[in-house]
Amino acid sequence: MLMCKDLAEIASDYIDGELATPQNLAIKMHLMMCRHCRSFIGNLRVSTDLMQAHSSSVPDEALMRKIDQRVAEALKARKKG
Ligand SMILES: [Zn+2]
Repeated sequence: MLMCKDLAEIASDYIDGELATPQNLAIKMHLMMCRHCRSFIGNLRVSTDLMQAHSSSVPDEALMRKIDQRVAEALKARKKG
């Protein structure tokens, strides 16, 4: 069974899509049950997207809008928690 601390360790690999299928499934299962890790992954995704947007020389309007949406979602989730 995947624990929250295990998930935190491999979360960035999960976001990058670098995990093997069993690990990926274990994370998805955990995220279904654990609200805290859902918002953790959400926040991590936002910062990953921000870094990618930053490293790109051409501003991507669609990506920026997606980031805005994710930030809003993450903030909403945090308020509820
Ligand atoms: Zn968790």
